[in-house]
Amino acid sequence: MRDTPEAWTPAARSVLPAMRAWRMAIHREPELSTEEFRTQEKVVAALRDLGIPYRTPPRSTAVIGLVGGDRPGPVVALRADLDALPVTEATGLSFASRTPGRMHACGHDVHTACLLGAAAVLVRNERALGGPVKLLFQPAEEEGSTGGALPLIAAGCLERPTVDYVVGQHVDPSIPLGQVGWREGAAMAAADFFRITVRGRGGHASTPHQGPDAILVASEVVVGLQALVSRVREPFDPVVVSVGSVHGGTRNNILPDEVVLEGTVRTLKPETRKQMESVLKRRVRSIVASLGARVAIQYVHGYPSLHNDPKSTRVVADALAVELGRANVTAVDHAVMGAEDFSRYLERVPGTFLRLGVGVPGRPASLHSATFAPDERALVIGAATLAAAAVALQRGRP
Ligand SMILES: [Zn+2]
Ligand SMILES: [Zn+2]
Repeated sequence: MRDTPEAWTPAARSVLPAMRAWRMAIHREPELSTEEFRTQEKVVAALRDLGIPYRTPPRSTAVIGLVGGDRPGPVVALRADLDALPVTEATGLSFASRTPGRMHACGHDVHTACLLGAAAVLVRNERALGGPVKLLFQPAEEEGSTGGALPLIAAGCLERPTVDYVVGQHVDPSIPLGQVGWREGAAMAAADFFRITVRGRGGHASTPHQGPDAILVASEVVVGLQALVSRVREPFDPVVVSVGSVHGGTRNNILPDEVVLEGTVRTLKPETRKQMESVLKRRVRSIVASLGARVAIQYVHGYPSLHNDPKSTRVVADALAVELGRANVTAVDHAVMGAEDFSRYLERVPGTFLRLGVGVPGRPASLHSATFAPDERALVIGAATLAAAAVALQRGRP
């Protein structure tokens, strides 16, 4: 590794104590989407300590910082998300959540500490920057439909100065600690949601012939939705349809009037997303009609699929291979069907979304679980990754 300001890993290691403190404070006090008031205060306090100018958009828990604002050259935005989840923590960590039913179970505390760490090393090496670096601390990633990215974009986070490239990252237990994963093109799914209300005719369970039985019809719909996945789409274009909740009925001998099914549809291609909406509605209506029942379908669009710009991704991956060693930079061979509102930035600005390895052998972990506890050694890699990516994009101008 070169011993220059561009060796971002040693620089990030020197701010590890601060990153640990930020991470622990944020982790201890998790806040749900759009309620990140205390988290916003903590980010603001850290930026003030670092002497980094920032603004907080009105009626928002976001923070927008700017490093090297008068450096000539391309503007790179680095983004972290601030929100936690409605989970009761069971990690046993000394800095575990103090609020039952609230937990940083998706690692957004790590993302935020990494971005503050990157800001700390960048501001200290401002002369190494090939342009301004904008820091986007974004609320409400977990919200799922509007999300936090769209309101932040509406608040002008990609303007004044105009952002040329955007980079984000997410902790990933499937990638070993110490490594970073990258992928060109489609990397994460679009997530849409449906609510299907099947209306039959309730009555005594001993006389089901008197009306369409909403429970039986809803069951046919659940099975029919899976046939849709296996028979409508192309085999190499992944689609997931999952029904996550079924509600109907009160006791064993009463048939309910109504059953409500809720679920999600995940797709990678925009045209498949459109197609799935129309074929799902058509299929559900025809199943329900064939059994004499009625149906109402609500279909809500969530985050679009996430597409990493190939040129920017290559520039960043090459820089990370120098920064972290080629063996620690992994091309990820498949998309994941999870969703991220980072896709909203990538719809407007080229850039890339990286995966920060937090996998430790023998310590299985899954995002959103009550025992998710990413190793703090990822903080150094995460901060160095963001700093190296920003400078590489400014120099490489892909
Ligand atoms: Zn999450
Ligand atoms: Zn997340």
